[in-house]
Amino acid sequence: MKLSVIVPAYNEEKNIKIFYEEFIKIFDKKIAEYEIIFVDDGSLDGTLEEIKKLNKTDKNVKAISFSRNFGKEAAMYAGLKESKGDIISFMDADMQQRPETLLEMMNILLENLQYDIVVACQKNRREGKVLSFFKNAFYKIINLVTNMEFKQGASDFRIIRRNVADSILEMKEYFRFSKGIFSWIGFNTYYMEYNAEKRANGNTKWSFIKLLKYAFMGIMSFTIMPLKIPIFIGMLLFILAIVMLVVSINNPSTLNILITFCSTLFSLQFIFIGVIGEYLGLSYIENKKRPDYIVKERI
Ligand code: UDP
Ligand code: MG
Repeated sequence: MKLSVIVPAYNEEKNIKIFYEEFIKIFDKKIAEYEIIFVDDGSLDGTLEEIKKLNKTDKNVKAISFSRNFGKEAAMYAGLKESKGDIISFMDADMQQRPETLLEMMNILLENLQYDIVVACQKNRREGKVLSFFKNAFYKIINLVTNMEFKQGASDFRIIRRNVADSILEMKEYFRFSKGIFSWIGFNTYYMEYNAEKRANGNTKWSFIKLLKYAFMGIMSFTIMPLKIPIFIGMLLFILAIVMLVVSINNPSTLNILITFCSTLFSLQFIFIGVIGEYLGLSYIENKKRPDYIVKERI
C-alpha cells in the first residue's frame, strides 16, 4: 500500500521542514510506502530550496515547481497527476491540518471498504463573523442553484482511493473548482470533523476579494441557472408591462410609475448582459485550452 501526500505550497519556506518532520513522526512505520509531493506554486521565497534539501536525504520527497503562481487548484491537479499512490491525500503546508488527523482519516478509509473518500470538515471556524456569514450564504446559494450537494465546512483536506483520483484526472476543465469536482464525481464519502490549528508561519493567501471571485467562479462552473433567470423575469415583467400599459392609457397620472418601471427594466437588462458576458468570458478562456500550469522544474 502506497500513500501519496500532495502539498500545495506558495511562499511557505518556514513551514516545509516542519511539515516534513511532523509527517514522518506520525507516519513512521504506519505505512509501507509513501511519497510527499510538494507543489511549489511559483513561490518567491526559499520554499523550493527547502524542498530540495529534504529531497537530498529522503527520495520519497518529490516536487514540481511552477513557472509562476497558478493557484492552489492547479497545484492540487498537478500533484494528483504526478501521484503514484494507491491512496492519495491533499494537505496544506501551513500545519493547520495535522498529520495525526490524516492518520485517523487513512485508517477510516482502510478499515471501511464502502468509503472511497474521507473528508475533513472544519469544526471550529478560525475566521470572523462577516466572513462566516458570507461563507454560509455561499453554501446556501450553491446548494440551491446546482443539483449537487456541498457540505459546509468540508475542506480540501481529503484522502481518496486511486479510482477516485483517476476520475478527478478525467475532469479536464480549465476553471477547476475542487469542491464542485469532488461533488460531481460522486463516490461514497465519509465526513470527519477536525479542529483546524493556527497557521505555523506566514499569512493566509486568501483575501476577501479573492474568495468572492472564487465563489462566483465555483457557482458558474457548476450551473448555468443564472442564464435562465432573465427568461422567467422577462415573462413576468412582460405581463406586468401590458397591465401597466392598459392602466396608463386610461389614467395619464400613472406616467411616473411607468417611467420608474421602465428604468428598473433597463437596469435589469444591464445586469443580465453582465451575467451573459461572464459566461461568455469563461467559455472563451476555456476554449483556448491553455495548460492549467507550467512546470519549471521537477525534483
Ligand atoms: N496555496 C497555493 N497557491 C496559492 C495559494 C495558496 O499553493 O496561490 C497553498 C498554501 O501554500 C497552503 C494552502 O494552499 O499550503 C492553503 O492556503 P492558505 O493557508 O493561504 O489558505 P487558508 O488555510 O487560509 O484557507
Ligand atoms: Mg492555511
